[in-house]
Amino acid sequence: MDIESKKFIIRYVAIYIRKSRAENMEDLEKHRMVLIDLCKRNNFKYVEYLEVGTSDSIDMRPKICKLLNEVEEGVYDAVCVVEYDRLGRGDLGEQDRIKKAFQKSNTFIITPDKIFDLNDDVDDTYADFKGFFARQEYKMITKRLRQGKKIGARRGQWTNGIPPFPYVYQTYKNKVNKKGLVVDDDKLSIYRDMLEQALKGIDPKKIAENINQRGILTIKGNYWSNVTIQRLLVDETHLGKIISNKTQGDAHKNKRPNAKPYKIIPQCDWVIVENCHEPVKTQEEHDRILTLIHQRNSVPVAGRKQKHALTGLIKCAKCGHNLTFNMTEEKVFVKPCWFIDAFGKKCGNKGISVDILEKFSIDEIKKYNDNYLISFDSEDAEKAEIMQELILEKEITLQKHKRALELVNDAYELGDYTRHEWLLRKEKWQKSIEQLKSEIYELKRQYRSTDKITKEERQKKLSAFLDSITAVTENAQRNDLYRTIINGIIYLRERDTIEIKIDFK
Ligand SMILES: [Zn+2]
Repeated sequence: MDIESKKFIIRYVAIYIRKSRAENMEDLEKHRMVLIDLCKRNNFKYVEYLEVGTSDSIDMRPKICKLLNEVEEGVYDAVCVVEYDRLGRGDLGEQDRIKKAFQKSNTFIITPDKIFDLNDDVDDTYADFKGFFARQEYKMITKRLRQGKKIGARRGQWTNGIPPFPYVYQTYKNKVNKKGLVVDDDKLSIYRDMLEQALKGIDPKKIAENINQRGILTIKGNYWSNVTIQRLLVDETHLGKIISNKTQGDAHKNKRPNAKPYKIIPQCDWVIVENCHEPVKTQEEHDRILTLIHQRNSVPVAGRKQKHALTGLIKCAKCGHNLTFNMTEEKVFVKPCWFIDAFGKKCGNKGISVDILEKFSIDEIKKYNDNYLISFDSEDAEKAEIMQELILEKEITLQKHKRALELVNDAYELGDYTRHEWLLRKEKWQKSIEQLKSEIYELKRQYRSTDKITKEERQKKLSAFLDSITAVTENAQRNDLYRTIINGIIYLRERDTIEIKIDFK
């Protein structure tokens, strides 16, 4: 059976494009051209499904999931693919799921040289046959990938991705280590500097700051942190070794259904190849660093902190971070701001006795309460009503525009628009939807601050707060009480001036 004899019943098709592991984006574009050409020659209206990932499991390919649902609903007369097995190379269950979707809805599969009707006995066998081979081929490919990695590692070849600082892959200036690592001499002195600092017992966080101050970034272009420094310091690659086979399976959350579970392989089974590349530290240095890190990590952490009435509420006016407390037997202090940026520069906001800060805060709250009573009038109520109407109006328009976007998408899928037209229209509606959403958000924000009901409620909460704050003695309860009216206290102390601003709810 050829396409010619079935052409009269085929009008709407989907083209499904997906690359196999061995192919690149160019191949993908080639396949796309072949399929578009096929559609044009046969006068098919078509919708493109371009799958970016190469996973074999259906559930990890969003486009095939969508396509199969639509095939089941009978949306298309046929699905065009470059080869039958592009739809799926998964296990028998998945092969079956694909087959059933096409059979149930009487949808054909078209390749450039054949048309498959899965409800036709002959083609059905053919489909199974092809499916069988696709499975065998897939098993071979994954096996070869695994083998490649293992064999490469056993020959001392680098197969672990981006090499760690200060190494580079294969060549640096006139140094060559085929499929292995060489030292970037410009980075070597920086690495040695980090190591020497660590050997002197300097904290990884401090080392990171020193390096950041010098304007030196990680290989990925980020600032250094205590984590990246520590990871680098304990890396055994720098001893000239390549270690592989540390883990097995896939730690990925959405792993293939029959993937091996993730586990860490015992050290005796690791593949360790020594003398693969130039070492940049000695075994003695490495051992010393491990000891130092172990000592630092085993310092006991201070006991759990007690809660204070203002816990979690005091924010630094200079950097926005939450300030913490120092609680002694007789007094409680707000500690100076702890925050240090990536360059090691301290925020510098000073500490204060919490009693003073709380007194200031309550005074501010009282003032706010007094002004609140004055400003409370009927004008607000009117303003709120107008605003409410405006929000409602905009929400209706938003619904209309959302519907319009759906219609545009539907029309494209039915082939009424070209891709170009569709993109233009889609963008227009999306823009206006975004615009409306942000307008509504802003209006609602303003509404909340003028709303008369909210105002009355807030008034009640303010009086309740002022009535009880001096009477309640339990810290946790006082903290809850503060949280009924404020989001935080923004605090600044420079020399002898203290500034606070209350962020009211
Ligand atoms: Zn600060």
